[in-house]
Amino acid sequence: MIDEYSLSPLTIVTPDEVKHDASIKISNGKIDSFTESKVKNYEIDGSYILFPALMNAHDHLFGTYYPRIGTSPYICWLPWDYDLKNSPIYEERNKSEPFDLYLVGTYKNLISGITTVHDHMPHHINNPFIDKLPIRVLKDYSLAHEVSVYDLKWGDGIDVEYKKAVENNIPFVTHIEEGFDVESMRGIEILEGHHALGEHSVLVHGIGFSKKDIKKVARKKAHFVWCPGSNVYMFGRTAKIRELLDAGVNVSIGTDSPATGELNILDEIRFAKKVYKEMYNEELDDEIIVRMITENPVKAFRIQDKLGSLAKGKLGDLLIISGDQNNPYSSLVNAHLKDISLVFMEGTPIYGDDKFENIFNDFGLNCTRINIEGKDKIIIGDPGSLMEKMREIVGFHKELPFLPI
Ligand SMILES: [Zn+2]
Repeated sequence: MIDEYSLSPLTIVTPDEVKHDASIKISNGKIDSFTESKVKNYEIDGSYILFPALMNAHDHLFGTYYPRIGTSPYICWLPWDYDLKNSPIYEERNKSEPFDLYLVGTYKNLISGITTVHDHMPHHINNPFIDKLPIRVLKDYSLAHEVSVYDLKWGDGIDVEYKKAVENNIPFVTHIEEGFDVESMRGIEILEGHHALGEHSVLVHGIGFSKKDIKKVARKKAHFVWCPGSNVYMFGRTAKIRELLDAGVNVSIGTDSPATGELNILDEIRFAKKVYKEMYNEELDDEIIVRMITENPVKAFRIQDKLGSLAKGKLGDLLIISGDQNNPYSSLVNAHLKDISLVFMEGTPIYGDDKFENIFNDFGLNCTRINIEGKDKIIIGDPGSLMEKMREIVGFHKELPFLPI
């Protein structure tokens, strides 16, 4: 293991400025400084840009499978859930062990530059796996599945769960207004009735939000998670995103499950840009999109002192992409899997191009080689064998396009 090192020369995207020809020093898993210092330096030769590693604000790791399920448009999530559970794809998916589905889900995220994920599931489902996964899956949250009479009754009730969030300074996460039936559309009103609309609320989907709902969400400083790919697939439309942004709501982007959402966060942000253009006939700024997968989700999930930006003292969760150094934000918004060149979590390299083999060798981790979109990559663990195992279980050469190996 290497405790101290630097990476240079790089274009570095910090909260205040974009630094060119710069250097970053990592010390004991944390960002130490951006000045040259006498430690082992890894030369990053080429047109590379350093961002904080990304966060996916809403995924269903247990549901990491393919293809998408259902026939749109639905009135709310409930009939879709019925279609899911009666689908032959669901049956095929469930042949694999839950832990393997979680592993595939985290690899899907890792190869798109993510080191932190919020998983849709309640604690009793994901807790047994979290410490064995290659990236960080958040443990600290309270939740309600939804707030309608027909929700899945996760947790100890909306009032109790919100109180837990306030007492422990953690997020209270719930799906809300994911549909257009009368009950779904009352989501914000129901939440208010339970005294659960506030700074700790992280509200996922909100496609039924009225303008009045959006004002309330903004006034109470609740956070919003936008899953445009999944929304448009299931309902033919998504939330009033410009109104949410104009009201000053903190917006993050999540992929949702691959059973409805885009294949990965890179596809999701491109889809977000496209759907915004279609809805409002104007461009959603690339810098704003990048914040939705870095600074904004860490604020919503109350981990901003540790993650989400490149600043002294934060964890060394780093993403290096190959792209145009003069246009860093649009380079990330337009990046494909092959462009994800290096990913570090807490200062340790866990994924990257094989040209950086020397870095991986110095850390001496258990890594394997894979080929993604024609590029040779090194990755922590052995997703190749995992895919072989899943193929053996279903009895044919299953392709999962979000993990194209
Ligand atoms: Zn969900």
